[in-house]
Order: sequence, then C-alpha cells, then structure tokens
Amino acid sequence: MRTMTDDQRTAQILDGKALSAQMRRSMAAEVAELTQRHGRAPGLAVILVGEDPASQVYVRNKTSGCEKMGVASFSHHLPAETSQQHLLGLISELNADPKVDGILVQLPVPEHINPDSLIEAIDPGKDVDGFHPYNVGRLAARKPALRSCTPFGCMKLLEQTGEDLHGKVCVVVGASNIVGRPMALELLLAGATVTVTHKFTRDLQQHVERADIVVAAAGKQGLVKGEWIKPGAIVIDVGIHRLADGSLTGDVEFDVAAKRAAWITPVPGGVGPMTITMLLANTVTAFKAHVGE
Ligand code: NAD
Repeated sequence: MRTMTDDQRTAQILDGKALSAQMRRSMAAEVAELTQRHGRAPGLAVILVGEDPASQVYVRNKTSGCEKMGVASFSHHLPAETSQQHLLGLISELNADPKVDGILVQLPVPEHINPDSLIEAIDPGKDVDGFHPYNVGRLAARKPALRSCTPFGCMKLLEQTGEDLHGKVCVVVGASNIVGRPMALELLLAGATVTVTHKFTRDLQQHVERADIVVAAAGKQGLVKGEWIKPGAIVIDVGIHRLADGSLTGDVEFDVAAKRAAWITPVPGGVGPMTITMLLANTVTAFKAHVGE
C-alpha cells in the first residue's frame, strides 16, 4: 500500500493492481502444481455473443489472464443472431465437458436472448461469475460457494485495510444483481451493519455521511460527492466511466473524497483489476472441487 504524496490528502490508496498481481503470482504457482498433479489444467469457457466492443475487450482480458496463469481458456464467440436454444445447447455441452471447470457468459447479450435463462442453465459448480441463484443463495445463507467476482474482489481490498468489519456501518450505493446485492451479502457475512441504497432511495447523502465504509456501484459518474464522506471512512469505487479524453473515472468524486477518507480505491487500478483475478480464483476453486480436493 502506498501513502499519497499530496500533503492535503489523507487517504491511503487501496491498490487493486498491486494486490491483483500478487494474487495472480501465487495462483499461477498453485495452478502449475495442480496441473502437474492432476494431468490437466483448470479450464474456463467464455461465451461471447455479438460484436459489442467493450465486451470484446473484457473477454480478451479474461482469456489472456487465463493464459498467463496457466488456466486453459475455451472461447466461443458467436454471431449476434445466435438463438437462445443454440446457446442453451452449448451451455449443456460445456456443463458435461470434463475439461471445463468454469463457464461464463459475457453480459450484456443481444435483446432477443434472456440472460437469466442462460445463467440458470449453467451448472452451479461451474458458475465462476457467481451469478446463478444457487450461488447467490449460498452467500445469502452464509455458506458461500462460488462468489460474485466484483464484490469478492472488493472484500479482498477491504482485507488490505486490516480493519475489523464487525459492526461497521456500510452503505452500498446500487442494488444490481451483479454488484450491489451480492456486495451487501458479503458485508453482512463479514458482520457489518449494511444499508443498500438504489434509484428509489431518498436522500442518498444522509446515508453516505454516516458510513464507515462506502461501496459505490450505481454506474453514475461522480454521484457520491467527496464532501459526503465521513472523515476516516473507507471508500470502494466500483463505477467505471470513460471520459471524452479516453481516461477513466468512477462514481465517487475522488479528489475531494481522498482528502477525507482513510482508504480509497482509485479508478482505474482499484476494483477493476480485482474482478478478473477473482474470476481466475473461482476457476481454480471450481477445478479443485471437480478433482475432489
Ligand atoms: P446497474 O445499472 O445494473 O445497476 C445500478 C444500480 O444503481 C441499480 O440498482 C440502481 O437502482 C442504482 N442507482 C441508480 N441511481 C442511483 C442513485 N442515484 N442512488 C443510489 N443508487 C442508484 O449497474 P451495475 O452493473 O451494477 O454496475 C454499476 C457500475 O459498476 C457501472 O459503472 C459499471 O461499469 C461498474 N462495474 C464495474 C466492475 C468492475 O470490475 N470494476 C464490474 C461490474 C460493474
């Protein structure tokens, strides 16, 4: 962890890039050892439907992350007009394929396809995104199995602060199935007192102002004002927005928030790198379960 050099800033940076690199190094060693012992590498199948440029970048990052770690990746890039039935058939084949430990469908999918039906068709033991209702339910029931990657990555970042989360007042901004909701469940599991805010929440400011930990995942650039941050709070910014000059920013007004918070994630270099790392970690976990470890 590095301390900010600007005297006016008090926050320490939660460096997701560094943590991610460190985790990937130790996972690569584990993958090499597992591969040798079991005679095959962990395998991740990635399904991409259509030509969405952002999705293509995400898929490339996921498959290259696999290769660097010695995880086998199986890419299925299908045309936008692919039918739901065809996709369900492919998922069923991958469920049965012994070389495949993890299956993910890159979202969003074209409008004629129901993403929930695809997610629910994935064998929960291969659901490395942690989106299947079985895995969400396991987390809700305090028996986590495969955990949603972005919230899981946020928890690893929170661990870096060394803070005990029991009884901490946490406010999650956003309640989506892939970030806000599982994030709230992770924090609850860690013993925090959790408030989930969403687009119908009145007076977001008063919720954020009393939070020891703020997780911002609304997908609204600069929604969380720096002045709202309680001095000494921990701020995790999940939001990603590309500005006109090509640079990236988040849901939190970073410069002001960094003068008040004790810890803060930057965008880029905070939560983003952790998401793919946790996907790889889930693939290794699924592999171990499949080989009986
Ligand atoms: P989403 O659009 O599915 O959900 C947004 C949520 O925010 C909804 O629950 C909505 O009710 C809530 N919301 C909207 N306005 C609000 C307001 N004024 N106050 C409180 N809540 C409000 O988005 P998502 O898929 O959850 O993604 C959220 C953000 O996180 C996006 O910027 C996305 O790009 C980013 N993201 C980053 C990563 C990563 O790896 N860093 C991963 C997933 C998503």
